[in-house]
Amino acid sequence: MKKIILILILFSSIIKTQAQQDNPSADTAWEHIYRGSYPRINDLVHTKLVVSFDYNKSWMYGKEWVTLQPHFYDTDSLTLDAKGMEIKEIAVVKGKTKIPLKYSYDNMQLRITLDKTYKSREKYTVYLDYISKPDELKLKGSAAITEAKGLYFINPKGETNEHTEIWTQGETESNSAWFPTIDKPDQKTTQEISMTVPSKYVTLSNGLLVHQQKNADGTRTDDWKMDLPNSPYLFFMGVGDYVIVKDIYKKMDVDYYVEKEYAPVAKKIFGETPAMIGFFSKILGVPYVWPKYDQIVGREYVSGAMENTTATLHQDGAYQNARQLVDGNAWENDISHELFHHWFGDLVTTESWSNITLNESFANYSEYLWQQFRHGKDAADELNYNDMQGYLMSGSDDKDLVRFYYKNKEDLFDAVSYNKGGRILHMLRNYVGDSAFFKSLKEYLTLYKFKPAEAQQLRLAFEDVTGQDLNWFWNQWYYGSGQPSLDINYDYTNGKARVIVDQVQTTGKIFKLPVAIDVYSQAANKKRYKVWLKNKSDTFYFASLQKPSLINVDADKVLLAIKNDHKSAEEFEQQYQYAPNYLDRREALEYFAKNKLSALANGLNDKYSGLRLFTLENLDKGKGYTIPSVLNLIEQIAVKDPNKKVQAKAIGILAKLNNSKYRSLFEKYVTDSSYSVAGAALEGLAQLEPEQAYTLAKKYSNDALGKLGEVVSGIISKNASENDFNFLLDHFKNEPLSEDKIKSAIAFAQYLLKVKNTENVKKGVDEIMKLRNQIPEQYRGYIDPVFKQLFSKISDAKKAEGNTDLSNYIDGLLK
Ligand SMILES: [Zn+2]
Repeated sequence: MKKIILILILFSSIIKTQAQQDNPSADTAWEHIYRGSYPRINDLVHTKLVVSFDYNKSWMYGKEWVTLQPHFYDTDSLTLDAKGMEIKEIAVVKGKTKIPLKYSYDNMQLRITLDKTYKSREKYTVYLDYISKPDELKLKGSAAITEAKGLYFINPKGETNEHTEIWTQGETESNSAWFPTIDKPDQKTTQEISMTVPSKYVTLSNGLLVHQQKNADGTRTDDWKMDLPNSPYLFFMGVGDYVIVKDIYKKMDVDYYVEKEYAPVAKKIFGETPAMIGFFSKILGVPYVWPKYDQIVGREYVSGAMENTTATLHQDGAYQNARQLVDGNAWENDISHELFHHWFGDLVTTESWSNITLNESFANYSEYLWQQFRHGKDAADELNYNDMQGYLMSGSDDKDLVRFYYKNKEDLFDAVSYNKGGRILHMLRNYVGDSAFFKSLKEYLTLYKFKPAEAQQLRLAFEDVTGQDLNWFWNQWYYGSGQPSLDINYDYTNGKARVIVDQVQTTGKIFKLPVAIDVYSQAANKKRYKVWLKNKSDTFYFASLQKPSLINVDADKVLLAIKNDHKSAEEFEQQYQYAPNYLDRREALEYFAKNKLSALANGLNDKYSGLRLFTLENLDKGKGYTIPSVLNLIEQIAVKDPNKKVQAKAIGILAKLNNSKYRSLFEKYVTDSSYSVAGAALEGLAQLEPEQAYTLAKKYSNDALGKLGEVVSGIISKNASENDFNFLLDHFKNEPLSEDKIKSAIAFAQYLLKVKNTENVKKGVDEIMKLRNQIPEQYRGYIDPVFKQLFSKISDAKKAEGNTDLSNYIDGLLK
């Protein structure tokens, strides 16, 4: 699953003011509950489902034939997860007859007494007739839940203009809301799903569509079949009037299910998929085993994307129009992530949620691998750096990567399991070398295919291939927490260069780290030394006739660490010029941004667009553009940089200067196909003629997403009247979930204070509430105070206007 990992530190100032009063009573019982692998009493073998849907009630009528066998010990009973269902019949199937079985049901689990004691590996089939009612699902008697319903009906009665869809989301244990099963990741089963739907819709499920039949009542029955075993959380159904855009890998179908409007751009969004399948198959040495690969987009999907076997579901952030795609495909990493799960997750599956990093660290790291292959090492290293920051800023220093103690299994889908896990794989790859790394992965995938695995099995595969004991690495990174914080100092005396590395992390824990140190004599001439950090303070001496021009610690820039590197400006200049990696150059540019603005401009000519952008952002912050030679370079970038985001940033800086000599440039680019470039140019025009700004913004508001949408809505909301409501609502609605969207919610709430129309205010607060519900549960404790504050402001304003009903409505949203 690709979760949206939010860095809510940005909101800490708002949160602090509220947090005290909302501090929940500390529940610490979970700290003593060990959560290991799940006992396997019965094993799933085959699951056959026959289902149809009631769009009026949002119900699913199901019949199931589930074949099982005792895992090892004989047993006369079976427990199935079945959430919130109406159970009509349970029987054991004996040839053509069904023998009813006794069972008890607590709305969560069925405890079934079998007709006899079954021997180890003796197969039996249980038949169940049931109704799944996901919208009425209540867990532990609490209010109906919005997440974890398993089965989602979107606009089922066609009451709004939203796309009518049905789709499912299983991970972690929600698929048992639509079919009774043993809903644990260490179970695997083959499957057949037969779906009867209105014939205007298409369906999608795991495996192959083996049969279709038109029925007399205007429905159609589609039979899907998956012959390879996979875990219940990976089962999927999707239904809707999608266009199926066909693609192909070798002779295998690769289809994209999108709404009609996005059919012309579907291959621009998903079209790298066949190349990714080929690339991953090749580097892993393990071919893609599944019979096809389809991707579908779901409206109102609560997560980022989900790797249902051969039927990946993406949230609607995947939908991008042609102009958005000019700025780059924002969904490329998600596509790579879910596809790679088809090796790590779907083929070899974590045995327990505690080990979820076995699925997620690899999916996360696939994004690096693909970026490196398709866009080069700088782009991959930038992603690596950003993901590391995402982890470091998440405040998860005390969480082990493999976590046997946790409050809620959903909490494990966090910046540790994903971002940190991916960075640990990157360090491991660097330590053992590419050849050993990929050979070990091949061994792991080959040994445990169609089985569950835990992190130790990954270690054993690496030890087998490399011939080395790797317990130190696993104990430190998989079964330990935190990261080193390094303070690095240098000096030179009497033909000896000295490097002192202190581990200054406050945890007191000392990390064992293999580190490459490059000692540069002059320009690019360097000698590499491989050393180990393993003490609170380590000192290394390097013989050198003269003072080295640069000593580069962590020369491959792979360490997961916080670094304080005490280099001089001259040394950073050498590093920028001669050290090869993205992070070498970025660290130097960061130093210049703080200490030597004149040297920062070097980054404007960097070969990598991400560093040109980084340089422009820092020149903007530090007002470096006031230096005439620097401004000259920015002017050049504004008209000729091949990267649209870089060009847009340069135009954005010129926009601030409010100089009419740029008018023709702004006029030229305000109609650019890139929303980023057009948005920056509009900013420039609005600066030059503030009294025309509102009219201009309205002129471009018909097709304004991304940066252009931001600029347009910024201008409009400043002068906003009641009439602008629909534009501002749509703009807010279309923004993908991110920290920025939470900021937009604050601005949008500000605008709602001025709106008088009751229905519009309701629509507005509902949309803000929708955003709140999209935020994963683990962030709610931090972010709910922000939403409460927004709602209470609007509520107070409406009460003051005498609209008590509306005020009460808003108060009821987030109690
Ligand atoms: Zn994932």
